[in-house]
Amino acid sequence: MRLLLANPRCHCAGVDRAVKIVQSILERFGPPLYVRREIVHNRHVVDELRLQGVVFVDELSEVPREARVIFSAHGVAPSVYEEARERGLLVIDATCPLVHKVHAEAKRFISQGYHVILIGRAGHEEVVGTLGQAAGCIHLIEDIDQARKAAIDLQRQVAVLTQTTLSVDDAQAIIVVLRERFGEIALPTRDDICYATQNRQNAVKALCDRGIDLLLVVGSRNSSNANRLIEVGRVRGVRGMLIDGPEDLRNEWFEGAKAVGITGGASTPEKRVQTVVDRLQGLGGAAVEICSVADENTVFPLPEIR
Ligand code: SF4
Repeated sequence: MRLLLANPRCHCAGVDRAVKIVQSILERFGPPLYVRREIVHNRHVVDELRLQGVVFVDELSEVPREARVIFSAHGVAPSVYEEARERGLLVIDATCPLVHKVHAEAKRFISQGYHVILIGRAGHEEVVGTLGQAAGCIHLIEDIDQARKAAIDLQRQVAVLTQTTLSVDDAQAIIVVLRERFGEIALPTRDDICYATQNRQNAVKALCDRGIDLLLVVGSRNSSNANRLIEVGRVRGVRGMLIDGPEDLRNEWFEGAKAVGITGGASTPEKRVQTVVDRLQGLGGAAVEICSVADENTVFPLPEIR
């Protein structure tokens, strides 16, 4: 059985930065340290930090007044900053700079009078945070059907933003429909779907082109970009399994499999993928072949820690 490992895979610069922010504050001030929502969407990252004394909360009302609190990589609405200010909390913002970029675009388009459409998944934390940049003024569209039917104000020009972790191809198909309906639409100067999402999807496409018959994506159920990687394989006819680690592997998946592709979502630590590779080699997998489509050297600096 051939084993093909996608590159790039696993942690992106935004996730890396968010996890380092938590670790450096823990080192400096010790536990308990409060984090609003999961710092990144990976069960193992969250469990390890919890063991070190991080307290993950859903809402700021669970954080003691005047305590330190970290906002997750997915970003928050301005109303959350306001609530933190009212409670006297010391906020450390681990929002990915590329999510902040989408927030800035939303505010700019709205101030210029555009009707702003956001392509994304309802309920995802990043989408909630972006919609909150101009509560009630941004129209969320999840799929082509909604793009065809959405009630849009035709008096104003339309601007389109996207969640950073969507399928590039799905988002493009929705934009085509929006162009058919509204003619010229304004888009950000640089893609909202971030470099890491695009690279990881391109690497899965390359795995599929190399003839894999099973795709293993290491990532948690609530990871948007890991789920999109499964879909990238599925539209190319490749069976995909989303697993948190080697404990989820099932022998029957490998019956008849000649080539297995392996990758990790942007919130998955590399060591989780390596444990899966080790297990597969124990099951008779051959030496790993790397399937590389890009080199990544993006690093986001840490904020000043107070
Ligand atoms: S996936 Fe992209 S937007 Fe999300 S944290 Fe990583 S670099 Fe930032």
